Amino acid sequence: MRASAARSIGIKPRTSTTHPTPYSWINPATPGPSRSGALAGRSIAVKDNISYTASPTSCSSSMLRDYNPPYTATCVTLLLKAGAHIAGQTKMDEFGMGSQTTHLPPFYTPVHNPASPTPDEPPRSAGGSSGGSAAAVAEGSCWAALGTDTGGSVRLPASYCGVVGLKPSYGLVSRRGVVAYADSLDCVGVLARDVDTVERVFNVISHPDEGDMTCALASSRQKVDSILESHLANLASSSPFSSPLTGLRIGLPTESPISPPQSLLSHLAFLGASIQAISLPYINLALPAYYVLASAEASSNLGRYGGGWYGSVDEKEIRDGESGLERRKRVRTEGFGKEVKKRILAGTYALSADEFDNTYLKALHLRQLLRQDYQNTFRIPHPLSPSTSGLSSKTDGVDLLLHPTAIQTAPLLSATQEVKGDSEYRQDRLTVPASLAGLPAMSVPAGKGEDGWPVGVSVTGQWGMEGLVFRLGRAIE
Ligand code: GLN
Repeated sequence: MRASAARSIGIKPRTSTTHPTPYSWINPATPGPSRSGALAGRSIAVKDNISYTASPTSCSSSMLRDYNPPYTATCVTLLLKAGAHIAGQTKMDEFGMGSQTTHLPPFYTPVHNPASPTPDEPPRSAGGSSGGSAAAVAEGSCWAALGTDTGGSVRLPASYCGVVGLKPSYGLVSRRGVVAYADSLDCVGVLARDVDTVERVFNVISHPDEGDMTCALASSRQKVDSILESHLANLASSSPFSSPLTGLRIGLPTESPISPPQSLLSHLAFLGASIQAISLPYINLALPAYYVLASAEASSNLGRYGGGWYGSVDEKEIRDGESGLERRKRVRTEGFGKEVKKRILAGTYALSADEFDNTYLKALHLRQLLRQDYQNTFRIPHPLSPSTSGLSSKTDGVDLLLHPTAIQTAPLLSATQEVKGDSEYRQDRLTVPASLAGLPAMSVPAGKGEDGWPVGVSVTGQWGMEGLVFRLGRAIE
Protein backbone atom coordinates (compact mmCIF):
# COMPACT_ATOMS: atom_id res chain seq x y z
CA MET A 1 0.00 0.00 0.00
CA ARG A 2 1.29 3.46 -0.82
CA ALA A 3 1.98 5.78 2.11
CA SER A 4 -0.58 8.30 0.84
CA ALA A 5 -3.29 5.65 0.79
CA ALA A 6 -2.29 4.54 4.25
CA ARG A 7 -2.59 8.12 5.49
CA SER A 8 -6.06 8.51 4.08
CA ILE A 9 -7.38 5.51 5.97
CA GLY A 10 -5.71 6.40 9.18
CA ILE A 11 -2.91 3.91 9.38
CA LYS A 12 0.26 5.25 10.86
CA PRO A 13 2.64 5.61 7.92
CA ARG A 14 5.80 3.55 8.14
CA THR A 15 7.81 6.55 6.99
CA SER A 16 6.48 8.94 9.61
CA THR A 17 8.38 12.18 9.09
CA THR A 18 9.69 12.97 12.54
CA HIS A 19 9.44 9.53 13.97
CA PRO A 20 12.47 7.31 13.89
CA THR A 21 10.66 4.12 14.90
CA PRO A 22 9.02 2.08 12.15
CA TYR A 23 5.30 1.66 12.65
CA SER A 24 3.47 -1.43 11.51
CA TRP A 25 0.68 -0.61 9.15
CA ILE A 26 -2.13 -2.39 7.41
CA ASN A 27 -1.11 -4.10 4.23
CA PRO A 28 -3.79 -6.24 2.64
CA ALA A 29 -1.26 -7.82 0.29
CA THR A 30 0.64 -9.41 3.16
CA PRO A 31 -1.25 -12.42 4.52
CA GLY A 32 -0.67 -13.22 8.17
CA PRO A 33 1.17 -16.32 9.26
CA SER A 34 -1.03 -19.37 8.92
CA ARG A 35 -2.44 -20.35 12.28
CA SER A 36 -5.40 -22.28 13.48
CA GLY A 37 -8.23 -21.03 15.69
CA ALA A 38 -11.57 -19.25 15.56
CA LEU A 39 -10.02 -16.29 13.72
CA ALA A 40 -7.36 -18.16 11.75
CA GLY A 41 -5.58 -15.92 9.26
CA ARG A 42 -7.97 -12.98 9.78
CA SER A 43 -6.37 -9.58 9.61
CA ILE A 44 -7.33 -7.31 12.49
CA ALA A 45 -6.16 -3.73 13.08
CA VAL A 46 -5.86 -2.31 16.58
CA LYS A 47 -6.25 1.24 17.80
CA ASP A 48 -3.07 2.98 18.84
CA ASN A 49 -3.95 2.96 22.55
CA ILE A 50 -4.02 -0.85 22.80
CA SER A 51 -0.61 -2.24 23.73
CA TYR A 52 1.08 -4.58 21.30
CA THR A 53 4.76 -5.22 21.88
CA ALA A 54 5.45 -5.63 18.16
CA SER A 55 5.07 -1.89 17.58
CA PRO A 56 5.02 1.40 19.51
CA THR A 57 1.75 2.37 21.18
CA SER A 58 1.66 6.15 20.98
CA CYS A 59 -2.03 6.97 21.63
CA SER A 60 -1.41 9.37 18.73
CA SER A 61 0.39 11.66 21.16
CA SER A 62 3.78 13.31 21.02
CA MET A 63 4.04 12.38 24.68
CA LEU A 64 4.22 8.65 23.88
CA ARG A 65 5.81 8.69 20.47
CA ASP A 66 8.74 6.60 21.67
CA TYR A 67 6.75 4.33 23.92
CA ASN A 68 7.18 0.61 23.38
CA PRO A 69 4.82 -1.23 25.72
CA PRO A 70 6.42 -3.90 27.91
CA TYR A 71 3.51 -6.33 27.43
CA THR A 72 0.67 -6.98 24.99
CA ALA A 73 -2.92 -6.16 25.96
CA THR A 74 -5.04 -9.17 26.95
CA CYS A 75 -7.52 -8.53 24.12
CA VAL A 76 -4.70 -8.65 21.54
CA THR A 77 -3.23 -11.79 23.11
CA LEU A 78 -6.66 -13.43 22.80
CA LEU A 79 -6.86 -12.46 19.11
CA LEU A 80 -3.39 -13.87 18.46
CA LYS A 81 -4.26 -17.10 20.29
CA ALA A 82 -7.35 -17.41 18.09
CA GLY A 83 -5.09 -17.29 15.02
CA ALA A 84 -5.64 -13.67 13.97
CA HIS A 85 -2.94 -11.56 12.33
CA ILE A 86 -2.48 -8.06 13.77
CA ALA A 87 -2.45 -5.89 10.69
CA GLY A 88 -1.24 -2.65 12.24
CA GLN A 89 -2.20 0.15 14.57
CA THR A 90 -4.63 2.85 13.63
CA LYS A 91 -4.77 6.57 14.22
CA MET A 92 -7.00 8.05 16.86
CA ASP A 93 -7.71 11.34 18.59
CA GLU A 94 -4.93 11.89 21.09
CA PHE A 95 -5.55 9.66 24.15
CA GLY A 96 -9.07 8.98 22.81
CA MET A 97 -10.25 12.55 23.39
CA GLY A 98 -12.28 13.69 20.42
CA SER A 99 -14.99 12.70 17.97
CA GLN A 100 -13.32 13.32 14.60
CA THR A 101 -9.72 11.98 14.70
CA THR A 102 -8.46 15.49 14.14
CA HIS A 103 -6.76 15.95 17.53
CA LEU A 104 -3.48 14.53 16.26
CA PRO A 105 0.19 15.34 16.70
CA PRO A 106 1.67 17.42 13.87
CA PHE A 107 3.30 14.38 12.25
CA TYR A 108 -0.06 12.71 11.44
CA THR A 109 -2.57 13.92 8.89
CA PRO A 110 -6.28 13.63 9.74
CA VAL A 111 -8.09 10.47 8.70
CA HIS A 112 -10.31 10.74 5.61
CA ASN A 113 -13.67 9.02 5.60
CA PRO A 114 -13.62 6.45 2.76
CA ALA A 115 -17.44 6.23 2.48
CA SER A 116 -17.66 9.10 0.04
CA PRO A 117 -20.69 8.72 -2.27
CA THR A 118 -18.79 10.28 -5.21
CA PRO A 119 -15.05 10.56 -5.91
CA ASP A 120 -15.14 14.38 -6.04
CA GLU A 121 -16.71 15.00 -2.66
CA PRO A 122 -14.66 17.19 -0.32
CA PRO A 123 -13.13 14.97 2.41
CA ARG A 124 -15.17 14.27 5.49
CA SER A 125 -14.26 13.15 8.99
CA ALA A 126 -14.18 9.42 9.76
CA GLY A 127 -15.40 10.23 13.26
CA GLY A 128 -13.43 9.58 16.38
CA SER A 129 -11.71 8.76 18.38
CA SER A 130 -11.38 5.33 16.70
CA GLY A 131 -11.51 6.97 13.25
CA GLY A 132 -8.49 5.08 11.93
CA SER A 133 -10.04 1.71 12.84
CA ALA A 134 -13.42 2.59 11.28
CA ALA A 135 -11.84 3.94 8.10
CA ALA A 136 -9.55 0.90 7.75
CA VAL A 137 -12.56 -1.43 8.01
CA ALA A 138 -14.71 0.67 5.66
CA GLU A 139 -11.93 0.78 3.09
CA GLY A 140 -11.46 -3.00 3.29
CA SER A 141 -7.84 -2.91 4.43
CA CYS A 142 -8.56 -5.29 7.29
CA TRP A 143 -11.23 -7.81 8.16
CA ALA A 144 -12.04 -6.21 11.51
CA ALA A 145 -10.54 -3.70 13.92
CA LEU A 146 -10.42 -3.05 17.64
CA GLY A 147 -11.25 0.41 18.90
CA THR A 148 -11.95 1.80 22.32
CA ASP A 149 -15.18 3.48 23.32
CA THR A 150 -15.34 5.71 26.36
CA GLY A 151 -18.28 7.84 25.25
CA GLY A 152 -18.95 6.76 21.67
CA SER A 153 -15.55 6.39 20.03
CA VAL A 154 -16.41 3.11 18.32
CA ARG A 155 -20.06 3.84 17.51
CA LEU A 156 -19.71 7.36 16.12
CA PRO A 157 -16.95 6.49 13.60
CA ALA A 158 -18.85 3.31 12.67
CA SER A 159 -21.92 5.42 11.90
CA TYR A 160 -19.97 8.00 9.87
CA CYS A 161 -18.08 5.35 7.87
CA GLY A 162 -21.00 2.96 7.26
CA VAL A 163 -19.68 -0.02 9.26
CA VAL A 164 -20.82 -1.92 12.35
CA GLY A 165 -19.32 -0.84 15.70
CA LEU A 166 -19.91 -2.52 19.06
CA LYS A 167 -19.24 -1.08 22.50
CA PRO A 168 -19.61 -4.15 24.74
CA SER A 169 -21.02 -4.14 28.27
CA TYR A 170 -18.53 -2.49 30.61
CA GLY A 171 -16.29 -5.20 32.08
CA LEU A 172 -16.81 -8.00 29.55
CA VAL A 173 -13.57 -7.26 27.67
CA SER A 174 -10.38 -6.88 29.70
CA ARG A 175 -8.78 -3.41 29.77
CA ARG A 176 -5.37 -4.80 30.77
CA GLY A 177 -2.86 -3.19 28.44
CA VAL A 178 -5.29 -0.54 27.19
CA VAL A 179 -4.06 2.97 27.92
CA ALA A 180 -6.53 4.52 30.34
CA TYR A 181 -8.55 7.59 29.44
CA ALA A 182 -11.45 7.28 31.95
CA ASP A 183 -11.40 3.94 33.75
CA SER A 184 -15.06 3.80 34.74
CA LEU A 185 -16.13 4.26 31.11
CA ASP A 186 -13.39 2.76 28.89
CA CYS A 187 -14.39 -0.31 26.86
CA VAL A 188 -12.57 -2.16 24.10
CA GLY A 189 -14.93 -2.37 21.10
CA VAL A 190 -15.06 -4.09 17.72
CA LEU A 191 -15.57 -2.67 14.22
CA ALA A 192 -16.31 -4.76 11.12
CA ARG A 193 -18.39 -4.70 7.97
CA ASP A 194 -21.15 -6.96 9.30
CA VAL A 195 -22.67 -8.04 12.59
CA ASP A 196 -21.53 -11.68 12.26
CA THR A 197 -17.89 -10.60 12.09
CA VAL A 198 -18.28 -8.27 15.07
CA GLU A 199 -19.83 -11.14 17.02
CA ARG A 200 -17.03 -13.54 16.12
CA VAL A 201 -14.35 -11.12 17.31
CA PHE A 202 -16.33 -10.20 20.43
CA ASN A 203 -16.71 -13.89 21.35
CA VAL A 204 -12.92 -14.22 21.32
CA ILE A 205 -12.05 -11.11 23.33
CA SER A 206 -14.91 -11.34 25.86
CA HIS A 207 -13.08 -13.39 28.46
CA PRO A 208 -12.35 -13.24 32.22
CA ASP A 209 -8.96 -11.75 33.12
CA GLU A 210 -7.36 -11.68 36.53
CA GLY A 211 -5.18 -8.82 35.30
CA ASP A 212 -8.16 -6.44 35.23
CA MET A 213 -10.14 -6.32 38.45
CA THR A 214 -13.14 -4.80 36.65
CA CYS A 215 -13.32 -7.69 34.18
CA ALA A 216 -16.39 -9.90 34.73
CA LEU A 217 -15.78 -13.28 36.37
CA ALA A 218 -16.69 -16.61 34.76
CA SER A 219 -19.56 -17.00 37.25
CA SER A 220 -21.12 -13.67 36.14
CA ARG A 221 -20.82 -14.72 32.51
CA GLN A 222 -22.58 -18.01 33.26
CA LYS A 223 -25.41 -16.09 34.89
CA VAL A 224 -25.71 -13.88 31.81
CA ASP A 225 -25.82 -16.94 29.54
CA SER A 226 -28.61 -18.59 31.46
CA ILE A 227 -30.67 -15.38 31.62
CA LEU A 228 -30.26 -14.88 27.88
CA GLU A 229 -31.10 -18.49 27.08
CA SER A 230 -34.26 -18.39 29.16
CA HIS A 231 -35.28 -15.03 27.67
CA LEU A 232 -34.78 -16.31 24.12
CA ALA A 233 -36.92 -19.35 24.95
CA ASN A 234 -39.65 -17.02 26.30
CA LEU A 235 -39.51 -14.91 23.15
CA ALA A 236 -39.82 -17.97 20.93
CA SER A 237 -42.83 -19.26 22.86
CA SER A 238 -44.59 -15.88 22.89
CA SER A 239 -46.15 -16.41 19.47
CA PRO A 240 -47.10 -19.41 17.34
CA PHE A 241 -45.51 -17.64 14.35
CA SER A 242 -41.79 -17.82 14.20
CA SER A 243 -39.95 -14.90 12.65
CA PRO A 244 -36.48 -13.55 13.47
CA LEU A 245 -37.73 -10.94 15.97
CA THR A 246 -40.73 -12.78 17.39
CA GLY A 247 -41.71 -11.37 20.77
CA LEU A 248 -38.89 -8.81 20.87
CA ARG A 249 -39.84 -5.44 22.33
CA ILE A 250 -38.02 -2.38 21.07
CA GLY A 251 -38.19 1.00 22.78
CA LEU A 252 -37.70 4.32 20.99
CA PRO A 253 -36.55 6.99 23.48
CA THR A 254 -38.87 9.99 23.12
CA GLU A 255 -36.04 12.32 24.21
CA SER A 256 -33.96 11.52 21.11
CA PRO A 257 -34.01 14.59 18.82
CA ILE A 258 -34.27 12.33 15.76
CA SER A 259 -35.90 8.97 15.08
CA PRO A 260 -34.75 5.92 13.10
CA PRO A 261 -36.07 5.83 9.51
CA GLN A 262 -39.76 4.83 9.33
CA SER A 263 -39.00 2.22 6.68
CA LEU A 264 -36.65 0.48 9.13
CA LEU A 265 -39.26 0.47 11.90
CA SER A 266 -41.85 -1.05 9.54
CA HIS A 267 -39.34 -3.72 8.52
CA LEU A 268 -38.62 -4.63 12.17
CA ALA A 269 -42.34 -4.81 12.93
CA PHE A 270 -42.78 -7.07 9.91
CA LEU A 271 -40.10 -9.37 11.38
CA GLY A 272 -42.12 -9.74 14.57
CA ALA A 273 -40.86 -6.97 16.87
CA SER A 274 -43.22 -4.73 18.77
CA ILE A 275 -42.12 -1.13 18.90
CA GLN A 276 -43.09 1.40 21.53
CA ALA A 277 -42.09 4.86 22.70
CA ILE A 278 -40.31 4.94 26.06
CA SER A 279 -38.94 7.77 28.17
CA LEU A 280 -35.50 8.10 29.72
CA PRO A 281 -35.92 11.49 31.43
CA TYR A 282 -32.25 11.93 32.39
CA ILE A 283 -30.82 11.11 28.97
CA ASN A 284 -30.54 14.79 28.04
CA LEU A 285 -28.29 15.48 31.02
CA ALA A 286 -25.91 12.69 30.07
CA LEU A 287 -23.63 14.85 27.91
CA PRO A 288 -22.58 17.39 30.58
CA ALA A 289 -22.32 14.62 33.19
CA TYR A 290 -20.12 12.59 30.84
CA TYR A 291 -17.74 15.46 30.11
CA VAL A 292 -17.31 16.22 33.83
CA LEU A 293 -16.67 12.58 34.78
CA ALA A 294 -14.51 11.68 31.77
CA SER A 295 -12.36 14.80 32.19
CA ALA A 296 -12.02 14.23 35.94
CA GLU A 297 -10.81 10.67 35.42
CA ALA A 298 -8.55 11.76 32.56
CA SER A 299 -6.91 14.48 34.66
CA SER A 300 -6.05 11.88 37.24
CA ASN A 301 -4.88 9.25 34.73
CA LEU A 302 -2.75 11.64 32.72
CA GLY A 303 -0.88 12.80 35.82
CA ARG A 304 1.56 9.96 35.19
CA TYR A 305 2.95 11.57 32.03
CA GLY A 306 5.55 14.00 33.19
CA GLY A 307 8.92 12.98 31.87
CA GLY A 308 9.71 10.31 34.47
CA TRP A 309 8.57 7.01 33.04
CA TYR A 310 6.83 8.46 30.02
CA GLY A 311 7.65 11.20 27.56
CA SER A 312 9.56 11.25 24.32
CA VAL A 313 13.30 10.75 24.49
CA ASP A 314 14.10 14.40 23.61
CA GLU A 315 11.62 15.77 26.06
CA LYS A 316 12.71 13.56 28.93
CA GLU A 317 16.32 14.65 28.69
CA ILE A 318 17.16 16.97 31.57
CA ARG A 319 18.36 20.34 30.29
CA ASP A 320 21.07 22.42 31.93
CA GLY A 321 19.89 24.25 35.01
CA GLU A 322 16.36 22.85 34.74
CA SER A 323 14.64 21.80 37.96
CA GLY A 324 12.48 18.65 38.12
CA LEU A 325 9.36 20.80 38.26
CA GLU A 326 10.45 22.87 35.27
CA ARG A 327 11.14 19.73 33.29
CA ARG A 328 7.73 18.29 34.15
CA LYS A 329 6.09 21.53 33.04
CA ARG A 330 8.03 21.55 29.78
CA VAL A 331 7.39 17.87 29.02
CA ARG A 332 3.65 18.29 29.57
CA THR A 333 3.49 21.58 27.66
CA GLU A 334 5.26 20.08 24.65
CA GLY A 335 3.96 16.52 24.88
CA PHE A 336 0.19 17.10 25.11
CA GLY A 337 -2.00 18.61 22.42
CA LYS A 338 -4.52 21.39 23.00
CA GLU A 339 -7.60 19.20 23.53
CA VAL A 340 -5.85 16.97 26.06
CA LYS A 341 -4.68 20.03 28.02
CA LYS A 342 -8.21 21.37 27.99
CA ARG A 343 -9.57 18.12 29.44
CA ILE A 344 -6.86 18.00 32.13
CA LEU A 345 -7.71 21.54 33.20
CA ALA A 346 -11.47 20.91 33.17
CA GLY A 347 -11.06 17.66 35.11
CA THR A 348 -8.71 19.17 37.67
CA TYR A 349 -11.19 21.99 38.20
CA ALA A 350 -14.08 19.54 38.72
CA LEU A 351 -12.03 17.66 41.32
CA SER A 352 -10.77 20.77 43.14
CA ALA A 353 -11.90 21.23 46.74
CA ASP A 354 -14.19 24.16 45.90
CA GLU A 355 -15.90 22.50 42.95
CA PHE A 356 -16.00 18.84 43.96
CA ASP A 357 -19.52 18.80 45.48
CA ASN A 358 -21.02 21.14 42.96
CA THR A 359 -19.58 19.55 39.84
CA TYR A 360 -18.08 16.09 40.24
CA LEU A 361 -20.57 14.71 42.78
CA LYS A 362 -23.51 16.16 40.85
CA ALA A 363 -22.32 14.45 37.68
CA LEU A 364 -21.98 11.17 39.59
CA HIS A 365 -25.51 11.60 40.89
CA LEU A 366 -26.83 12.21 37.37
CA ARG A 367 -25.07 9.06 36.22
CA GLN A 368 -26.87 7.11 38.92
CA LEU A 369 -30.24 8.56 37.90
CA LEU A 370 -29.60 7.72 34.27
CA ARG A 371 -28.66 4.14 35.17
CA GLN A 372 -31.92 3.87 37.07
CA ASP A 373 -33.82 5.19 34.03
CA TYR A 374 -32.38 2.37 31.93
CA GLN A 375 -33.11 -0.26 34.58
CA ASN A 376 -36.73 0.91 34.81
CA THR A 377 -36.98 0.54 31.05
CA PHE A 378 -35.68 -2.99 30.51
CA ARG A 379 -37.83 -6.00 31.21
CA ILE A 380 -34.79 -8.26 31.79
CA PRO A 381 -33.32 -7.46 35.23
CA HIS A 382 -29.63 -6.49 35.52
CA PRO A 383 -27.81 -9.85 35.75
CA LEU A 384 -25.39 -8.57 38.42
CA SER A 385 -27.93 -6.81 40.59
CA PRO A 386 -28.06 -8.48 44.03
CA SER A 387 -31.87 -8.63 43.74
CA THR A 388 -31.67 -10.64 40.50
CA SER A 389 -31.95 -14.06 42.05
CA GLY A 390 -33.93 -16.03 39.51
CA LEU A 391 -34.37 -15.66 35.79
CA SER A 392 -37.73 -13.92 35.92
CA SER A 393 -38.38 -10.88 33.73
CA LYS A 394 -40.80 -8.04 34.40
CA THR A 395 -44.02 -8.18 32.43
CA ASP A 396 -43.66 -4.61 31.22
CA GLY A 397 -40.54 -3.01 29.76
CA VAL A 398 -38.56 -3.46 26.57
CA ASP A 399 -35.67 -5.71 25.52
CA LEU A 400 -33.70 -3.21 23.50
CA LEU A 401 -33.57 0.50 22.72
CA LEU A 402 -33.16 1.92 19.24
CA HIS A 403 -32.21 5.43 18.09
CA PRO A 404 -29.91 7.07 15.54
CA THR A 405 -26.23 6.91 16.52
CA ALA A 406 -25.38 10.48 15.55
CA ILE A 407 -27.30 13.71 15.12
CA GLN A 408 -25.75 14.23 11.67
CA THR A 409 -23.77 12.48 8.94
CA ALA A 410 -19.95 12.80 8.88
CA PRO A 411 -18.87 16.47 9.11
CA LEU A 412 -16.61 18.01 6.48
CA LEU A 413 -12.96 17.79 7.45
CA SER A 414 -12.47 21.46 6.58
CA ALA A 415 -15.30 22.32 8.99
CA THR A 416 -13.90 20.15 11.75
CA GLN A 417 -10.73 22.23 11.80
CA GLU A 418 -12.84 25.15 13.04
CA VAL A 419 -15.74 23.32 14.65
CA LYS A 420 -14.19 22.03 17.81
CA GLY A 421 -15.11 22.36 21.46
CA ASP A 422 -18.84 22.43 22.20
CA SER A 423 -19.97 21.59 18.66
CA GLU A 424 -17.69 18.59 18.59
CA TYR A 425 -18.93 17.47 22.00
CA ARG A 426 -22.55 17.70 20.83
CA GLN A 427 -21.89 14.90 18.34
CA ASP A 428 -21.66 12.53 21.32
CA ARG A 429 -25.13 13.36 22.60
CA LEU A 430 -26.64 10.01 21.64
CA THR A 431 -23.67 7.79 22.44
CA VAL A 432 -22.63 8.87 25.95
CA PRO A 433 -25.80 7.66 27.78
CA ALA A 434 -25.06 3.94 27.22
CA SER A 435 -21.43 4.57 28.27
CA LEU A 436 -22.46 6.14 31.56
CA ALA A 437 -24.78 3.19 32.20
CA GLY A 438 -22.12 0.60 31.18
CA LEU A 439 -24.53 -1.05 28.71
CA PRO A 440 -23.79 -2.81 25.40
CA ALA A 441 -24.54 -0.60 22.38
CA MET A 442 -23.90 -1.24 18.71
CA SER A 443 -24.12 1.07 15.72
CA VAL A 444 -25.39 -0.60 12.56
CA PRO A 445 -25.55 1.01 9.09
CA ALA A 446 -29.10 2.05 8.22
CA GLY A 447 -28.86 3.53 4.75
CA LYS A 448 -27.74 6.95 3.61
CA GLY A 449 -28.65 10.49 4.61
CA GLU A 450 -29.95 13.10 2.15
CA ASP A 451 -26.32 14.00 1.36
CA GLY A 452 -25.52 10.38 0.36
CA TRP A 453 -23.28 9.70 3.38
CA PRO A 454 -23.88 6.77 5.76
CA VAL A 455 -26.34 6.89 8.63
CA GLY A 456 -26.17 4.49 11.58
CA VAL A 457 -28.67 3.42 14.21
CA SER A 458 -27.74 2.26 17.69
CA VAL A 459 -29.13 -0.75 19.51
CA THR A 460 -28.69 -0.69 23.31
CA GLY A 461 -29.39 -3.65 25.59
CA GLN A 462 -29.34 -4.69 29.23
CA TRP A 463 -25.87 -5.38 30.67
CA GLY A 464 -24.52 -8.65 29.24
CA MET A 465 -27.25 -8.98 26.61
CA GLU A 466 -24.97 -8.71 23.57
CA GLY A 467 -26.78 -11.77 22.20
CA LEU A 468 -29.99 -9.74 21.86
CA VAL A 469 -28.13 -6.72 20.48
CA PHE A 470 -26.63 -8.91 17.72
CA ARG A 471 -30.03 -10.41 16.94
CA LEU A 472 -31.60 -7.01 16.28
CA GLY A 473 -28.43 -5.79 14.54
CA ARG A 474 -28.66 -8.63 12.03
CA ALA A 475 -32.26 -7.71 11.27
CA ILE A 476 -31.24 -4.10 10.59
CA GLU A 477 -28.23 -4.61 8.35
N1 GLN B 1 -15.80 12.11 22.03
C1 GLN B 1 -15.79 11.64 23.38
C2 GLN B 1 -14.66 12.28 24.14
O1 GLN B 1 -13.92 13.01 23.56
C3 GLN B 1 -15.70 10.14 23.42
C4 GLN B 1 -14.34 9.64 23.19
C5 GLN B 1 -14.18 8.16 23.39
O2 GLN B 1 -15.14 7.41 23.41
N2 GLN B 1 -12.93 7.75 23.53
O3 GLN B 1 -14.52 12.09 25.31
